[in-house]
Amino acid sequence: MSTTLQQPVQKLATARQQLSAGKLFAVAAWFGLVAGLIEGCGLLAVYGYGLWNRFIRPGVSVEIVWISALFDFVLFLCIAAMMLVARRMFRLPAAALVTGFALITFGDWVSLTGRISSLGAASLTLGLTAVFYRWFVRHERPVIAFFKTSLPAFMAFTVLVAASIQGGLRLQRERAIAALPPAAKNAPNVVFLVIDTLRADHLSSYGYNRPTSPHIDQLAQQSVVFDNAISSAPWTLPAHASLLTGRLPHEHLAVGDEPLHTHFPNLAEAMRSRGYTTAAFSGNDYYFTRRAGFGRGFVYFDDYYYSLADTISRTFWGRVFVHFSDHLGLKEFPVRQRAEQIKNQVFSWIDRYPDKPFFVFINFNDLHDPYLPPQPWRGKFSAEREPGGVIRQGNAYPQLTPAQLQGEMDSYDGALAYTDDQVGSLLAGLRKRGRAQNTLFILVADHGECFGDHSLLEHRNALYRELVHVPLMISWPGKVPAGLRLDGAVSTDSLPATVLDLLGASSSNPQNNFPGPSLAGLWNPAGNQRSCPIPSPRWPSTNFFRKAIPPTRAHCSRLPRVSGS
Ligand SMILES: [Zn+2]
Repeated sequence: MSTTLQQPVQKLATARQQLSAGKLFAVAAWFGLVAGLIEGCGLLAVYGYGLWNRFIRPGVSVEIVWISALFDFVLFLCIAAMMLVARRMFRLPAAALVTGFALITFGDWVSLTGRISSLGAASLTLGLTAVFYRWFVRHERPVIAFFKTSLPAFMAFTVLVAASIQGGLRLQRERAIAALPPAAKNAPNVVFLVIDTLRADHLSSYGYNRPTSPHIDQLAQQSVVFDNAISSAPWTLPAHASLLTGRLPHEHLAVGDEPLHTHFPNLAEAMRSRGYTTAAFSGNDYYFTRRAGFGRGFVYFDDYYYSLADTISRTFWGRVFVHFSDHLGLKEFPVRQRAEQIKNQVFSWIDRYPDKPFFVFINFNDLHDPYLPPQPWRGKFSAEREPGGVIRQGNAYPQLTPAQLQGEMDSYDGALAYTDDQVGSLLAGLRKRGRAQNTLFILVADHGECFGDHSLLEHRNALYRELVHVPLMISWPGKVPAGLRLDGAVSTDSLPATVLDLLGASSSNPQNNFPGPSLAGLWNPAGNQRSCPIPSPRWPSTNFFRKAIPPTRAHCSRLPRVSGS
């Protein structure tokens, strides 16, 4: 046989060599770690720091580097196990198996920016894979040997990266705590609890005909309650931005899908400068995150939930899996951090620094669609055991029946009852720790929700009362009147100024410069204040308006009366 004919035959023979199971798993582990580490760095650059992609979803932070490596490591080992089974049936050669890992790896890297179309990404992936295959069949033996010998080093490197990231974050936190200025003597703790998507009129204490909120009702009896509190916006990002900066959406400009700017100081920065251990705990990992611009001033920000589902949902192949699981009928991939888990995180933070006053900003997100609270809450207000779960953001519902709509509302009310139970548990935990007495506790919502009101569903689509009328309660035993109800219209962006006013902060300090007015002036005779400016929530410039349904619920609502004007 001539030399020119011998070479392709030798290559083909080499390409048909089989991988032992041990080598197959070693190759899978190698590709998993390398694919994941590089993907993690890419995700951090694109979705953590906003390079090539200014949008804030899906947010990631530095932990993604090792979490992505760990996820891909496990994923590729699972694929190797499937390959072992397939190899028995189809006698797949080593080159086919190794090239399979390369295909998945290239697909991951090419697609993660989200800037290349599906067709373009597929073409580029196939091209890179073809180049890899041609190279691999020429160097099969040394390359497989390299995979095997370098694997321990890659594993050790990944462990080192994970330990460095987690250790670095912890060190950064402890240094920030050590650098806090001394707090004022007897400075009260501050709990700022936002119940995401809670419309006021579904609370018993705001006149609802279902017993959805016994614990919040009890809190209302110990608080100043605002019957007509209006949020600055009907969706999460701008509403939270106002709650923390005291600015209206036309000022802070967090009104699209881009992060909050750093133009204005926020309440966490002001509290930190007063010696508070500042921490945020988010159930809304879409819009209340560090990536969304809310990290400033917080020593600790719990928007990275270390569950398996959360890990999966932040990686590229994990997101693909979640996408298909949605289409396969799974009502909700269990990525949502429940109020109970958040509450436990809050207590572990509080317990860590018992000698310092704390400022915790909490977002409970169990009322957000899809309305799927845990049992027994989901069926609490329904004849069905599992109502709800049909409505989910991003879909239209032209065929939603009145019975389905009722089921959605029943499940929403169940989610409220669940959240109320956790609010009760949060308050009980503070009492048990002896920290309730000297705690300023604020309960508010970022926006409401529509259930067919004005033919609308969900939120972010109008400025009707159902969407911007939110509960607002402020309690501080002995310092704030208990059981006082105020019916004048107030805007929730007044809260930063109110908190600092209650703490006695000087408004001449630029760090405390939140526009206000302080709501404390409404109950404090010395404040000589009878009313607040008329709330002016901002119209959402979004395409969510299309999520309308035929009118099923006659509802005529009004903006609140404005007392004193
Ligand atoms: Zn929200």
